[in-house]
Amino acid sequence: MTIPKSVLAELVLEVQHIKPQIYFKSSLTALSHAMEDQVLASSDQPLVIATFQREHFYRQEAHRYRRIANLTSQVYVLAAPETEFKNSSEYYETVAFNSKDALSREWNLLVLGQQYSSCLICNECDNSGLVDETSQFNGMEQARRFEGIWTFDHQVCVQSAILLFHRILKYRPELKKKVQLATEVYGINLDLKKGKKSPKKKSPSNGKNKQTSAVIGNTNFHDPFAQRLVTYLQASQYKLIKAYRSIAAQEQKQRLINIISSSMRRSLDPDEIIKVAVAELGKALLADRCLIYQCRPTDEIATITHEYLRPSVKSLLNQLWPLKENPLFQKVIQTKERVYIEDTILLPEDLLAKTSETTKSQGRNSIENLISQWEISSWLIMPLLYQGRLLGIVELHNCGSCSHNWSEEQTDLVEAIATQLSMTLIQAETYTHLEELNQQLEALDRTRSNLIAITGHELRTPLSTIQVCLESLSQEPDMPEELRQVMLETALADADRMRNLVQDFLTLSHLESGRVEWNIEHLPLLECVDLALSSVRAHNLEKELPNITTQVSSELPLVLADGEWLVEVLSKLLDNACKFTQAEGKVIITATSSNSENMLEVTISDTGRGIEPARLEAVFDRFYQEEGALRRSVGGTGLGLAICRQVITRLGGKIWAESAGKDRGSQFHFTIPIVGNSQKQQEMQKKLN
Ligand code: ADP
Repeated sequence: MTIPKSVLAELVLEVQHIKPQIYFKSSLTALSHAMEDQVLASSDQPLVIATFQREHFYRQEAHRYRRIANLTSQVYVLAAPETEFKNSSEYYETVAFNSKDALSREWNLLVLGQQYSSCLICNECDNSGLVDETSQFNGMEQARRFEGIWTFDHQVCVQSAILLFHRILKYRPELKKKVQLATEVYGINLDLKKGKKSPKKKSPSNGKNKQTSAVIGNTNFHDPFAQRLVTYLQASQYKLIKAYRSIAAQEQKQRLINIISSSMRRSLDPDEIIKVAVAELGKALLADRCLIYQCRPTDEIATITHEYLRPSVKSLLNQLWPLKENPLFQKVIQTKERVYIEDTILLPEDLLAKTSETTKSQGRNSIENLISQWEISSWLIMPLLYQGRLLGIVELHNCGSCSHNWSEEQTDLVEAIATQLSMTLIQAETYTHLEELNQQLEALDRTRSNLIAITGHELRTPLSTIQVCLESLSQEPDMPEELRQVMLETALADADRMRNLVQDFLTLSHLESGRVEWNIEHLPLLECVDLALSSVRAHNLEKELPNITTQVSSELPLVLADGEWLVEVLSKLLDNACKFTQAEGKVIITATSSNSENMLEVTISDTGRGIEPARLEAVFDRFYQEEGALRRSVGGTGLGLAICRQVITRLGGKIWAESAGKDRGSQFHFTIPIVGNSQKQQEMQKKLN
C-alpha cells in the first residue's frame, strides 16, 4: 500500500491561495522545535500530527513527543520504519508507512488546538546535486532544501489534518474511533463513512478563521516581524551554505591530493598511481567516464589501460584511443592548456583548427565519430605537464543526454589534481630510471669485481713465474747455462701468455661494452676460412698439427659479416681444435646453407679430447679451462670462446658446442646470416648500433 501523492500537492489543490516557498532543513528544524515548544508551554490540549521521512529522524525527537503525549491524548507520529518503528499505541499513536510512500519525502507537523493552530507541510526538493555522497561534511546536510508552507491559518491547518488523517487511517484503520473523536473536538469535517475527505473547498480561506491568521508566503501575511525573521534566517542560511560549499570544495581538493600523494608514497609505480587517481577523480567529479593515460605529443594513439566508469557506460578499456587525428588533443599540445566542451552538440570552431596532417572537416569528422561512438556529451581534456613536457592526459566524459556540466571550481580541481599527478608521475619515472641505473651499476660492479678477481689471479700466476725466473737469474751468476736457458724461456713464455691474456681481455671488454666499430660486408666464407687457416699455421710453425680438411664450397652464398671478426672467430675455433687434438687426429671445416632461415652453418669438428656433455655450455664462460690454467699443457687464456660468442651474437648468429664426451672429439657450430636476409640484417644493425 503506497500513497504516491504528497500532502503538499493535495493541499495546494484544496487551498489555492497558498503559495509554497523554499525552506532549508535548518529552518524547518527551528520552526518544528518552536511549534513543539509552543505545545509544551501552553495549557491547550491540541491535536499533534508529525511525519518523519525515516525512523532515525524520528528517534532524535522521540523524547519530545513523549513529553507532548503527557499533555494531550491526540498525538500521531508517522515514519518509514528502519529497525524498530512500528504501528503502536503505547505512548501515542505511531504509524509505520511504506518507504515508497510520498510521505518518505515530506516534513509535516500539524498543531491544531483550541487557542491556536499552526502547520508545516513540506516536500523535499531534489537535492542530488547539493548533497555530495563522497563528502562527509555535515554542513551540506543542513543545506537540504524543502518546498512548502508554514502557517497559522486555521483553515489550512484543518485541511492539513484531514489529509493527514486519511493517511493515518489507511495504515491504521483501527484508529477510526479515536480519529472520529478528534474530528469532533477540533471541528474537522472528515467524511469517514466513505473514507474520503470532505468536499473540495474552491474558495480561499475566509472569515471562518477563528484564530490568528498568518500565512507565510502568501498575501494574507500579517506578521512582518516573523516574516523578517524568517527572511533573515534564510539569508544567513544561504551565506552559511556558500561557506560550507567552499570549505567542502577545499576539503575535497585536499582529500584527493592527499589520496594521490599517499598512493605515490606507497608505491612509486606509475600504474598504481594512475589507478588510484582515475578512480578518485571520476568519483569526485561525478563523471560518467574518466581516463588517464601516459603519452607523448608525437604519439598517434594511446592504449587505454586505466578507466573509471559509471554503470551502463561503454568501456574504453584496452581500446586504441586516437591522438594524432584528434584535433582536441592537438589543441591541448599546442596551447598546453585544458580543453573543455560543455556540450558536444555545439563543437566550437576554433577547436577544429587544421593540423599539418588533417583538414578542418577531417578533424570535425574524427571528433564527431568519437562523440557518437562513445556517446560523449561533455568532454574535458586536461594535460599532465611537467616543466612544459607532456606526460599524459586526464579525460572526463559525461555520456548520454541528461549529463551535468562541470563548474569552473571543478575544472580547477581537476587541474590541481593534474599538477599533483604530473609531479607524482615524474617522481615515479625518475625513480624507475634510478632503479634501472642502479641495477646496471650493480651488474657492472659485479662484473668488474669478478673480472678484477679473475684477472688478478690469471695475471699473477705468470707474473710470479717471471719474477722467480728473473730473480734466480740475477742472484745465481754461477747457474749452469742450460738452466739459465730454461729460466729465460719460461719467463718469455709466461710474458707471452700475459700479453695474450691482456689482449684477449681488452678485446672482450670492448665487445661487451659495445665499443667495437663494425664493418659489415658481403664476404665469401671460403676466403675467410683460408685466412684463418694461414693464421693458425703461422702461429704453430714449430708444432705438428693434426690433419685439417676444408669442405667449404665456393658456390655457397656470400655471408653478411665483418671480415676481420669472422676470421678471428674461425682462427680461435681452429686453434682450439688443433690444441686439443693429437697430431694423428683430424680437424674438418664444413659449411652448409639453410635456405629456410637464410643462414650459413659453419662446423669445425675434431677427433680430439672431447668435452663432457655437462660442460658444453660452460666452455663459453670467461676463463673456463677444463684443467685450470696452472696444470695445462697447452697455451690459452680461457677467453677465446667467450670472445667467439660475443662476436657471433653481434653478427646475428648463434654458436654452440657438441661432443659425445671425453676423448670422442668435439664439434663447434656457428651460424651467420647470408646476403638477402634482410630481417637479420635489420636486427643485426640494431644490435650493432
Ligand atoms: P682457451 O684459451 O683455454 O682455449 P677457450 O675459451 O678457447 O680458452 O676455451 C675454453 C675451454 O674450452 C678450453 O680450455 C677447453 O677446456 C675447452 N675447449 C675449447 N675448444 C675445445 C676443443 N676443440 N676440444 C676440447 N675442449 C675444448
